[in-house]
Amino acid sequence: MNYYNLKDKQETVDFKTASIKSQGRQKGLFFPENIPQFEKEFIQNLHLYSDEEIAFRCMKDFINEEIPAEIIQEIAAETISFEIPLKKINDRISVLELFHGPTLAFKDVGARFMSRCLSYFLKNENKKVTVLVATSGDTGGAVAHGFYNVPGINVVILYPKNRVSQVQEKQLTALGGNISALEVNGNFDDCQDLVKQAFGDENINTELFLTSANSINIARWLPQQIYYLLALKQWKQQENENPVICVPSGNFGNICAGLLAYFRGLPVEHFVAACNENDVVPDYLKTNQYQPKKAAATLSNAMDVGDPSNFTRILELFDHQFEKLKTVVSGYSINDRSTLETIKEVYEKYGYILDPHSAVAFASLEQYLNENSGKKGFILGTAHPVKFPEAVEKAVPITIEIPASLEALMKKDKKTVEINPDFEELKRFLLNKNQEQ
Ligand SMILES: *Cc1c(COP(=O)(O)O)cnc(C)c1O
Repeated sequence: MNYYNLKDKQETVDFKTASIKSQGRQKGLFFPENIPQFEKEFIQNLHLYSDEEIAFRCMKDFINEEIPAEIIQEIAAETISFEIPLKKINDRISVLELFHGPTLAFKDVGARFMSRCLSYFLKNENKKVTVLVATSGDTGGAVAHGFYNVPGINVVILYPKNRVSQVQEKQLTALGGNISALEVNGNFDDCQDLVKQAFGDENINTELFLTSANSINIARWLPQQIYYLLALKQWKQQENENPVICVPSGNFGNICAGLLAYFRGLPVEHFVAACNENDVVPDYLKTNQYQPKKAAATLSNAMDVGDPSNFTRILELFDHQFEKLKTVVSGYSINDRSTLETIKEVYEKYGYILDPHSAVAFASLEQYLNENSGKKGFILGTAHPVKFPEAVEKAVPITIEIPASLEALMKKDKKTVEINPDFEELKRFLLNKNQEQ
């Protein structure tokens, strides 16, 4: 499969190049040259296929000959080697729990797939690759765990000091090995600026082979389709009608993967994009005007995005036809107050604890279903509530227990290097690190 650059359609690359380079010229995102269709028989009989087989069939056409089939099979199986259950919350709304992976967030899926593809492609290169990421919390943990102990790869993560939750910080800083965590005396934007400068620095780029692992990378984006299939497999065992699927959205990579699966033939009634107060896309769906804004800080901070990077992929999928997009996708914006109320209400009525991101989705889907009676659906549960204890415990009088899988990590020491938001400090670190190898 080849991929073209959405900003410069003359530039086409293969899967390998797209997953190593992340972006094309002018920072354009890559997009598949054609949308491979699912076979009808496969979609109608998902229950006859194992989860591993579903994952393999979902991915293989995007990679073709570039990775041998048996290796894609292995990578696909490892990508989903934790449970992804669809649970009923009430008789209209279920939740697809995507938070049983190593960092308790759905980003584990994409990070695991991407790390294994890169490792395959770089096996025979003698230059080490450095994956450089800035994180506000979730991305860094998923990338760290996805790449932990992957040969040929060093990971350097920048995060804002004192601005990530305790669990998130451990996930970033306690692994050691090929993972380095830099604690930046600044905010997330400072971290992102430093990373951008490093990608533009000639000196660094001759010494090291830098790559990014953010959500625009196709090797992180495409595998997110897998769990939409796994959800449908479970959904059909309980329901006859197609589901409304509601996705808590920030950069819109997750919902865009679901839409891609829909265009390949996955039966879905409707998509709901659930946003917090950062409502650029719900606004667009109302007005047909796309107006990026400065991101506002909210309780569901992984969705604090003012100019979602995957929006352009959504437009491409719909051939830039606004009316068509509106028939498939609705958008809602939920503020922090409603988020907390939703966590409280869902806990009191159904005994289910939502994290703030999933709560935004629950409130959005509930609104949509109230406006469209007779339908049912599910939300994507994108994070475990223990990752956001301050918010959850503000809403309900409970202490969330740390899952057993995290206990060992929580006992480990934090290892970080503190830096100021000064590019020279980052540069020195990267070049020294490279000397050590
Ligand atoms: C990253 C993230 C999101 C947003 O996903 P996008 O693909 O950026 O839309 C939602 N919830 C959680 C918990 C996240 O970590």
